[in-house]
Amino acid sequence: EFDYRVPENMKDAVFIGSRVKVPFGARRLMGVVTGLAERSQCRDLLDLLGVVGRENLVTPKVLSLARWMAEYYCCPVETALKSVLPDAVRREKEGWRERLFIRALPQPSGETPKLSPRQKALWQAIRKRRQMPLQEFIQTASTTATTVRRLEDKGLVAISPRVMDRDPFAHETILPTQKLALNPAQKAAWEHIVQAGDDNAPGQRTFLLHGVTGSGKTEVYLQAIEHCLSQGKGAIVLVPEISLTPQTVERFKARFSARTLTAVLHHKLSSGERHDEWHKIRQGRARIVIGARSAVFAPVHPLGLVIVDEEHESSYKQEESPRYHARDVAVLRAHQEQAIAVLGSATPSMESYYHAQRGKYQLLQLPRRADAKTLPLVRVVDMRTTARKEKSAIFSPQLKEAITARLQAGEQTILFLNRRGYSASLQCPLCGYVAGCPRCSISLTYHRQAGQLRCHVCGHAEPATQVCPQPSCQNPQIRFAGIGTQRVEETLRKLFPKARVQRMDSDALKRKEDYRRILHAFRQGKIDILLGTQMIAKGLHFPNVTLVGIIYADLSLHFPDFRAGERTFQLLTQVAGRAGRGDVEGEVFVQAFTPFHPAIQYARQHDYIGFYEQEIEFRQELGYPPIQRLCALTLRGRNEDKTRLAAEHLKKTIQKNLVDFNNLTLAGPAPATLLRAEDFFRYQLTLRANRMAALSKRLQTLIQETPLPEDVRLSIDVDPAHL
Ligand code: ADP
Ligand code: ZN
Repeated sequence: EFDYRVPENMKDAVFIGSRVKVPFGARRLMGVVTGLAERSQCRDLLDLLGVVGRENLVTPKVLSLARWMAEYYCCPVETALKSVLPDAVRREKEGWRERLFIRALPQPSGETPKLSPRQKALWQAIRKRRQMPLQEFIQTASTTATTVRRLEDKGLVAISPRVMDRDPFAHETILPTQKLALNPAQKAAWEHIVQAGDDNAPGQRTFLLHGVTGSGKTEVYLQAIEHCLSQGKGAIVLVPEISLTPQTVERFKARFSARTLTAVLHHKLSSGERHDEWHKIRQGRARIVIGARSAVFAPVHPLGLVIVDEEHESSYKQEESPRYHARDVAVLRAHQEQAIAVLGSATPSMESYYHAQRGKYQLLQLPRRADAKTLPLVRVVDMRTTARKEKSAIFSPQLKEAITARLQAGEQTILFLNRRGYSASLQCPLCGYVAGCPRCSISLTYHRQAGQLRCHVCGHAEPATQVCPQPSCQNPQIRFAGIGTQRVEETLRKLFPKARVQRMDSDALKRKEDYRRILHAFRQGKIDILLGTQMIAKGLHFPNVTLVGIIYADLSLHFPDFRAGERTFQLLTQVAGRAGRGDVEGEVFVQAFTPFHPAIQYARQHDYIGFYEQEIEFRQELGYPPIQRLCALTLRGRNEDKTRLAAEHLKKTIQKNLVDFNNLTLAGPAPATLLRAEDFFRYQLTLRANRMAALSKRLQTLIQETPLPEDVRLSIDVDPAHL
């Protein structure tokens, strides 16, 4: 932050949050006013050059949120501010789209200038409509711009630019819905939320809404928002990945579009659309904002309610600086603005449930499905039995039989495997060679259609070889190991030649509309079996789906991360929730090689609390979150020795300087799980402490004072989602 003087003539136009032009060395730059003071400790202050735009974009509240983020997540204030203000908004020019409008001008009575019959007809036409977009007028009246300009010369019409909103949803029609009568559990939850907002009592304002899939959480959100609007306040709804949750967004639009605008913020908007949506919110024309993680910064004022749907999702954590967790920012922001925060999930994160247990959040529960349907029956299939008979079988006899039955009954099936490509790797059984990425420490995935081996980290691609490339080996029997969605698709087509099979993963989606198009076809019953990655795990509601098969449930269990069990449990529960949402009871087959793993067994019984209790014990033993807080320091460099030495040096510095810090555990340096990525080597230190806010403050100062070798970079991840 730098100090400047506000010239006398700008005094009334400069506020906290104003964008200003400043001299900076030989350059002129744009800055944001982060504070106003009577005096400065600097001498020879330079004057501001000018104020940009009429509105101050950052409100003091949002600014203090950005300051908190910078401090807590150890990043510069300007990095935090960049997250808070989208690029499209920060730009210097006002980005409204303007269009020319033609407007009839009132004429002094009796005085009509001389007009040709054609001109007269045009003038009559425009007088009838009063005003309309010029282009549209020219088309409907089949005339030309020159002719119209002549009317303007005669003072009959005016042509001038006007701002038009870009509406990314202009082409959609959404049928409005009425609110449902809440069932007793929903009603109780709703009342708690609403009452916390009503009285200014200092009670609990952060809620964890734990409700099984289909329990009607969304209806509670909708009615809580309705109440919030009736109090004259706005609401923010965060969803994990907006492009993957079109059905959720539609439900909000359908309930509120008539009465209040719903702005949608997400990364697929064009920058113009983003600009318009942001200003619609800033100007209070849009009162409800739905968006992915960055929507937590939407300039809603006054803010009454923040909802974080599927709060356990790791996509709420930003994986670049500032590495903030939108759920945690949401709770903090709501607190700062005396708003209510509601975190909802069928499988709450360990963190949130732990807070609820300890009274930091208030727990609300919806234990049953709203439509009184039973949760689907989940069967775990021991794949070791199948593998004994048929070594590389993808489908167990049980799942095969179940699919056949659905095809005969005309019901639909969803199959889930969280790995795209054809097979996981190319291996030589003779010499043990595995085809790896030349730039990353990871094996290459085989993509059969392209005949390529591809790296899922950096995108490196090379042709697949027919023989082992080791000069001493050259074995022609090199083979593929591990399965991916492409291989499952191929096997499906062989097993069920008549079935209509559609694969849905990032390889299958070539264009922006593909996702919607496939889901639409599925809804219309034009697809029998939908096969996909995590893309199909979330929030989809298809009544005719009566079978869900999870091809390889252990896949996510074997990641070297302390959250692997939690992730697996969440994923299995979410995927299973896609079955039986219509009139026919649903069935789920979970194929696994470790069928007795607690994550799989508790998911089978739909037993969140059972899972939580055994998992929290494990976290307790190892001192992992949520019991202790975690911070990962990753050093990255092209030279492995240099990187490791820098990590060791940093460790010593931290040990020396933070000796007085209570309960600090320092581990590492260890090679990161993915030691080498895109030609960089990575070493990691992990810190654990009881209180993170105090630790990150100390760390930030310490790190600013600790020089690193030139080509080694350090990133700090407070509360990391992955290790
Ligand atoms: P969740 O968000 O918890 O997964 P949803 O809100 O999607 O659950 O609700 C599941 C289904 O139950 C939806 O079809 C919804 O319309 C219906 N539903 C929700 N609340 C009620 C209610 N009070 N009465 C009748 N149906 C309801
Ligand atoms: Zn790579």
